[in-house]
Order: sequence, then C-alpha cells, then structure tokens
Amino acid sequence: MSGHLFIRGGTVIDPASGMQARRDVLVRDERVAAVSEAIGDESVRGATVIDAENCLVLPGLIDMHVHLREPGYEYKETIETGTRAAVAGGFTTVACMANTNPVNDSAAVTEYIHERAQAARLARVYPIGAVSKDLKGQELAEIGEMHRAGIVAVSDDGMPIMNGDLMRHALEYTAMFGLPVIVHEEDRSIAADGVMNEGAQSLRLGLKGVPAAAEEAMTARDLALLARTGGRLHIAHVSTAGAVELIRAAKGRRLPVTAEVTPHHFTLTEAAVGAYNTHAKMHPPLRTAHDVEAVRRALADGTIDAIASDHAPHHRDEKEVEFDRALNGVVGLETTLALALRMAGEAKIPLDAIIAAMTVNPARILGLPLGTLAPGATADITVVDPRRRWTVQASRFRSKGRNTPFEGMELQGQAIVTIVGGRVVWRAEDA
Ligand SMILES: [Zn+2]
Repeated sequence: MSGHLFIRGGTVIDPASGMQARRDVLVRDERVAAVSEAIGDESVRGATVIDAENCLVLPGLIDMHVHLREPGYEYKETIETGTRAAVAGGFTTVACMANTNPVNDSAAVTEYIHERAQAARLARVYPIGAVSKDLKGQELAEIGEMHRAGIVAVSDDGMPIMNGDLMRHALEYTAMFGLPVIVHEEDRSIAADGVMNEGAQSLRLGLKGVPAAAEEAMTARDLALLARTGGRLHIAHVSTAGAVELIRAAKGRRLPVTAEVTPHHFTLTEAAVGAYNTHAKMHPPLRTAHDVEAVRRALADGTIDAIASDHAPHHRDEKEVEFDRALNGVVGLETTLALALRMAGEAKIPLDAIIAAMTVNPARILGLPLGTLAPGATADITVVDPRRRWTVQASRFRSKGRNTPFEGMELQGQAIVTIVGGRVVWRAEDA
C-alpha cells in the first residue's frame, strides 16, 4: 500500500535535524508523519511494515551529477534504466547533466526529460540546463526559459568553459534566478590532449598527461570571477590537492562556492590505469595518493560539500578501444554508497558527515525541498544494511553502462529499500 509505511527499529541518521538514534519512522500520504522511539500500535494499523533492525534509515540519497544520456544516446542509458540504477543504489533523486543530443539548452528538452522521468516513476530527476547554446561555449543558452521549465542549475559539464567573459556573464545572469553554475574545471590549453594524470605513471605508460595545473588554473579563474559577480559557483569532481586549497581559501573569504568529489577520485589513484585500463579513464583523471588524501580531508572538514557519482555510462565498444581513443567516464550510481561507506571507515570520517554530503548538502546547493526526515518532510527514504557484503559485478548492474573501474571489488553496505514519495521503488531481492 502506497504512502502508508512503518519502518521499524532502524538507526535514523538525519544530518539536517542532527538526529542519529534508533527510531521508528511512520510515513503517511507521501510525507514523514512521525519519527519516534516507539510509535503506538494505533497509528501503524494498516501500514506496510519494513523491518529496519540493524539497518540505517536515511533521507533519500541525492546524486547531483549524473549523465542519463536521454535524449540522443539511448544506446548508453535511458532515463528509465538510469533511474532504475539510481534507486537500486539508494538514490531517490538525481540531477542530470545537459550533454544529451539535442543538448538540454532549451525548455523543450528540459520538459522532455521531466516527462520521461515521470513515465519511469522511479527516482526524481532534476534537469541541469546548459550554460551555453549547444555546449559550444560561445553564447548563453536560454537559461530564463529553462528556469521556468524547472532546471535546478546550469552546467556545460564535460566541456570546460574556456571563454572567461562568457563564464562571467553566466555567473551574473544566473544570480537573477538563484541558480548555481556547475563547472568542470579544466583549462583545455593546459590539458591539451592529455588522457591521464601527468606524472610518473603517464611517463611509464607513454601516455600524454593532464597536469593538476589544468584544473587549478581554471578553478582560480572562476573563483576570481565569482568574487566580482554575486552568482553561485559549484565545482564538480574536484580531483587535486591544489584545487582543494583554492576552494578552502575561497570559503574562508566567504565566497558562495560549493564543491563535490566523486567516489573514484576519493578511492583510486592513477595507478588504477595499470596496463591501459580504459575503465580508469575519465576527466579530470585519477590523481595521486596525495590528492586522494586531500579530497578526503576536504570532505571531513566541509571544504567539499557533496559526494556525486558523475555516473557516465558508455557502450562497451566505446571503452574496448586503445586508451587514447576510449571515451571518458565511469558508471557510479550502483557503487557510490558502498564506496562512500568504505572511505568513511578508512578516513575515520563520521558517518553523519558522509550522509550529509549525499542528502541535505546537495539538496541545499540545488535548492531542493528534500534531504531530511523531519516530520512533515517528503517521504524519500533509503534503508541501508551497512553490513551486507557484496562484490561489484558490472554484468548485474541495472544501468546499461558496464564501465566501472571497481569490477570484482568486495564492498560492504547496500540499499535494501528505497522509497520515493512514500512509494517503495526498490527492494533488494532478499530484503
Ligand atoms: Zn565533468
């Protein structure tokens, strides 16, 4: 029965309200009706019971950076398969990037994405509009029109905005709507045609490298522009210690900047490229152990606000080619939660900080009325068994994408029930 659920005996972690305690949760009519030590029999009559004993009960996870590939690249992923992967991974909400075909640079494409997401009835989907028309980096897209159609941010993600004047105008113009500009920080004139991190590994493999300076130079430029515009800047997939330092300093000066890190950047180093493994190819590239340490520390101290998958499915033919020619990106919706839990354990970061980075923080950055389990809140809930052990097998993904660098890795922790608006949209087979 939809909209009337009794989630019994789990540990509720709700960073937005500062709660971390064993609680029962009652859901009624798409809302959180009560969060209490013991909910009386009277109020749970007729409710579907979900046993959350030894489990975590979290606000529905939010992934603010995914590529759903529809319209235009349905052979890689569709909104239906992408949101099925999302709910299987514990995500109740995703925000999808604009690099589809056609590009999401108009209200028509934004509306199409909304329609497809509503038809799928799985995770909530919030479209991100393009900054520039057709991602060409020359003139601004129809941002006002897309804002009315429901975009939550703008980004040319995948295509760094080399034109600094356009970037400045984007920050100024989006300030009128309160929309963040999400940036892929890479100075192409420095990155040139690099395919992995520039360093000892790239030398050994004979591959052209992308220096950390490509990311840091662009980050510094955008922070300098931000200081003059009054807009809001969100820095996607931070990968270098130097970029972390720039963001930390900017936050110290109270600039309206936020940032995210991906599971691959906080888990893997350039060593994962190994013998030309194209599943370890992405932009920005995997960096060094020093950088991994820096992004982890940045998550711990709040310099980095959010964890985002940068879920980027590709067809196998686009990865089973020589390293230079392989497309960039990895899938992440079905591995992000367990990798975040693993990293929290290794780096000794409190669980509530990690959960905040996957719930209330991205909700605030995108202005979504989600990310909390406070009574009255929308009943988007993820029930996680933190002890459940599993092995990454791409062949079992719900995503069409199989391009993961984590194949065969043994992980712990999995979403066993995912609830969107009071409706169970995912339940693990044996839960
Ligand atoms: Zn990107």
